[in-house]
Amino acid sequence: MLKNIIIPAFLVALTVVSTAQAQKSNSYELASPGGINKIKFNLDKSAPKYEVSHGKIQVITPSDMGFMLKNNEDFSSNFEITNVKKSTFDETWEQVWGEKKNIRNHYNQLVVQLQQKDKNKRKLEIQFRAYDDGIAFRYVYPKQETKDSIFIMDEKTTFNLKEDGKAWWIPANRENRDEYLFKDAPVSTLDTVLTPLTIESKSGLALSFHEANLKDFASMTLVNNIGTQLKSDLVPWADGVKVRVKDTFTSSWRTLQIGEKPADLITSYLILNLNDPNKLGNVNYFKPYKYFGIWWGMHIGKYTFWESDKQGATTKRAEEYMDFTAKEGFHHLLIEGWNKGWTPAWYENKMHMFSFTKSADNFDLEKVVEYGNKKGVALIGYHETGSNLINYLKEVDDAFALYKKLGMHSVKIGHVGSKLNMKENHFGQFGVNYFRYILEKAAQYDLAVLYHESIKDTGERRTFPNMISREAARGQEYNAWSEGNPPNHLTIIPFTRLLSGPMDFTPGIFDVEVKQGFPSKRVHGTTAQQLALYLTIYAPIQMMADLPENYEGKPALQFLKDVPTDWEDTKVLEGKIGEYITTARKDRNSADWYLGTITNEKARDVNVSLSFLDPKVTYEAQIYADAEGTDETHNPSAVAISKKTVKASDVLKLHLGGAGGTAIRFKKI
Ligand code: CA
Repeated sequence: MLKNIIIPAFLVALTVVSTAQAQKSNSYELASPGGINKIKFNLDKSAPKYEVSHGKIQVITPSDMGFMLKNNEDFSSNFEITNVKKSTFDETWEQVWGEKKNIRNHYNQLVVQLQQKDKNKRKLEIQFRAYDDGIAFRYVYPKQETKDSIFIMDEKTTFNLKEDGKAWWIPANRENRDEYLFKDAPVSTLDTVLTPLTIESKSGLALSFHEANLKDFASMTLVNNIGTQLKSDLVPWADGVKVRVKDTFTSSWRTLQIGEKPADLITSYLILNLNDPNKLGNVNYFKPYKYFGIWWGMHIGKYTFWESDKQGATTKRAEEYMDFTAKEGFHHLLIEGWNKGWTPAWYENKMHMFSFTKSADNFDLEKVVEYGNKKGVALIGYHETGSNLINYLKEVDDAFALYKKLGMHSVKIGHVGSKLNMKENHFGQFGVNYFRYILEKAAQYDLAVLYHESIKDTGERRTFPNMISREAARGQEYNAWSEGNPPNHLTIIPFTRLLSGPMDFTPGIFDVEVKQGFPSKRVHGTTAQQLALYLTIYAPIQMMADLPENYEGKPALQFLKDVPTDWEDTKVLEGKIGEYITTARKDRNSADWYLGTITNEKARDVNVSLSFLDPKVTYEAQIYADAEGTDETHNPSAVAISKKTVKASDVLKLHLGGAGGTAIRFKKI
């Protein structure tokens, strides 16, 4: 659709439509470029209000805006409009790497400048953007007449949903941060929830609330207080203040993506569009990749993170893993537990003292890196902070400098713990600023960052393409040591968590019964489904999480060799939240397409129309499916591999076992 209208960045059209006359009206309307989404702004008895509609459907009825400052100073009413500006913007920009190469950023904007009529005469600017795939607004507190420290005690923004709907939610402000299973419930029954919050509305729209470009501000969570009204609930500092700034602030964009069906949300790039353009240029030190790790062995109890006779990270094992990585034609290896400071109780909430420069006794970092250089295998660095940031921030420059000296260009940084420094919430302004500080520092050392136990993604990768992936959800590791992720988890997260950005889910377990692990712990799905996850979950780096011995000699490993992690385009062919999803992606570096389809616990027959393929090309479909009779509990590791010549006019009939899936490479012939 966009092929013919790609505009080079220097021809960006920024048209000021009108600088409206001040004071003439208190009501303004902003429509998206295609007219489908509309925002109405109104100053109602001196209080700013907005509402949102999609076509003929009213989505948000008049809702509150503004803040409560310290000393109960109300910053949500007693305003007058001083200026209003409307503009339109249209550009198509290229992602350095991503799920889609060229992204169109096309919106209409309304900027309303307000000033309070009392003695403080505080100014507030509200910026609204209307896109055809949703709406967004943010608050700018411009420089005022007098210098001041601002303490935001509460955000008053509400989202008054016109009607109830089924919300897919995880709780906010809990011990395990965002590592919870999604549940569904009517909006009207929610407590405090994290975003992205995805809602299937009664009139059939797919909605998702989130935020974009979050910096030097608190994360927004949502709370339901009355009826179907959601209210912004900023994550506070330990002392209860929500945001503390000097002189001026810009909130993150409050976003509402709107689709006709849930699959539309996945191919909406609104969050990325609301972030600033690339500040780093071409990050030549990072190219998307797939990686093995000395990692799963620790989670299933085969190895330890800490120094013991079962320690995972030894020089010897590192060299064996590098041999395996090189033999199978891969180039990246993660090693956890390589450094000093690990203890059997490392994950407990204590101010653990890890070293980020000193190797464990049985591990020689320099030697391992050198061995990798000979084998063409790059080591991915690993820092587990244990959320002791006082310790980490003291060492981080030396630690990054060490990686730079050794020629390493990726680092995974973990933050296990309920609170940062046992005090501050990961999602509060303190955490927001910490995660951005480390990201920008890593860029100075040519390091790409993979965050675990992090704050949520708000599209930072557009501005900082060294922000490659993060966990920020319940990943594969839960299958190693807990009751595990139920099969529907994987059919929910593409419509919820993954809307915020790439996830390091760590797919690719071939021995889904985890025979070397803890009794009764296992992956609740089939091996073919694990292959399909490389398509249904987007990330520029994807782990192949299993032990080398479980890949050795398995024909299905060929799919992991072939599947790229950098895409020209992405299409979600069908999907029902919690039930199934089918995703097709085109390789950025060849004419090939790939497809992944997965189902929840129910077996499913899928007819896939191949109309997304190039009609002028013939393809060989290389199909990795659940073998006959395979499902979660019957022979779950059996993958049936077949080949078929296909064209765009064909329809493929596939059978997915319960908790199963199919992965396909369409190779141009
Ligand atoms: Ca984790």
